[in-house]
Amino acid sequence: MDLSYGAEYEAFRAEVRRFLKEHWTDSDAKIPPGPSGRRTPFGAVIRTDEAATRFRVKATEQGYLYRFVPKRYGGGEQPPDALKSLIISEEFRSADAPGEIVGQGPSMLVPTLVQHGTEAQKQQFIRDTLLGRIWWCQGYSEPGAGSDLASLRTRAVLDGDYWVVNGQKIWTSSADVSDWMFCLVRTEPDAPKHQGISYLLIDMTTPGIDVRPLRQMTGDVDFNEVFLDNVRVPVANIVGARGQGWKVSHSTLKHERQLIGASWMNRRILEGMTLLAQGINLRGRPAINDPVIRQRLVELEAKVLASEYHGYRLLTLDTRDQDPGLAGMVGKLYGTVLGYDLSKLAMDVCGDGSMLAPGDANAPAMGMFVTAYMWSLGNLIAGGAANIQRNIIAERGLGLPREASSKR
Ligand SMILES: Cc1cc2nc3c(=O)[nH]c(=O)nc-3n(C[C@H](O)[C@H](O)[C@H](O)COP(=O)(O)OP(=O)(O)OC[C@H]3O[C@@H](n4cnc5c(N)ncnc54)[C@H](O)[C@@H]3O)c2cc1C
Repeated sequence: MDLSYGAEYEAFRAEVRRFLKEHWTDSDAKIPPGPSGRRTPFGAVIRTDEAATRFRVKATEQGYLYRFVPKRYGGGEQPPDALKSLIISEEFRSADAPGEIVGQGPSMLVPTLVQHGTEAQKQQFIRDTLLGRIWWCQGYSEPGAGSDLASLRTRAVLDGDYWVVNGQKIWTSSADVSDWMFCLVRTEPDAPKHQGISYLLIDMTTPGIDVRPLRQMTGDVDFNEVFLDNVRVPVANIVGARGQGWKVSHSTLKHERQLIGASWMNRRILEGMTLLAQGINLRGRPAINDPVIRQRLVELEAKVLASEYHGYRLLTLDTRDQDPGLAGMVGKLYGTVLGYDLSKLAMDVCGDGSMLAPGDANAPAMGMFVTAYMWSLGNLIAGGAANIQRNIIAERGLGLPREASSKR
């Protein structure tokens, strides 16, 4: 098997390197994220300062970022090419240059708007979202509507040129720092539950919105409750047709699962953990020399590689416009279970130190693996719990009989 990229792609890599050398200097890379940097629900800080934004605009114009988004909406607009995308992300990462902003807006809403939005919505939102000038949260889950999302009860009633929204959302990541929310509401209360839902874009400064942060066991606030009391939303802010929000929401969910199951996050944990195992002592020797730790580490490294190659396979199918079928369903489950296994091993390598809270000066790696472990538990649930993913794979992928007790 020849896994080299070939001459054409190595020439492309050289071109990307030249671009980075010219437009992203060492001093740009050293600027701290500062107050404009935003924390994503996945724990990373994203730079949105002037130097980072200037660079992103140039890299997008060059066709290196946001390649699936048309140029007229602020994207890079390039034909899909899995290897080029891979080279770009490898080179940007090694130069520590700002890549695409990862989050609910650019990663989930933008592809949804490209597919389902009106021309006015695309013009109003896409460019500013890609550059981190508009931050979004996702108003799907409600108390009583999580796995069974179609049971949601937040109502929207038409009043002239406005939808009037009443209800409650929960687990809304980043709602406390978001400018807008893409939100599922019930507009047809008498229709079958999947057909009565619409997809609205709601300005978070609209009167009647009350955001109440939920503090987690890590001490952080990543989720919120969002109460909506007679919130007036212009009719132009509906995405897709009235009552067709379920279909639109699935476009967003597909991208959310790809985002959560992405293999690069696991690669980062693996790399960090290998360094940790080299630097920390366990039972009187460096943890990396402990045969049990080594065995577990190598097994997990093989799984990370397998998930990366699986990602390439999906990209290849995508570029050929072929349906990945069952292969496309396993990524979120496999990636999140692997994330859990990796951070669990990191906790074992930390030994007693894993009991110290993140940020404690005595905690190994300042407790970053404890945070990764906590996140890995959340990722098993976010975007569709692991049990539900298993049901989907079994029923829709493998054609097994539906669960007798299933409410769906
Ligand atoms: C880190 C994180 C970020 C999140 N961010 C957001 C966000 O930004 N916006 C948003 O809207 N929501 C968000 N959520 C909420 C998330 O979508 C829900 O938690 C998820 O859909 C599960 O719903 P639930 O919490 O109501 O659990 P439930 O649906 O009550 O499930 C509880 C347990 O029962 C199991 N279960 C339920 N039904 C079945 C079944 N039929 N068969 C087998 N097992 C079943 C589940 O697997 C789970 O283990 C986030 C959640 C997490 C953890």
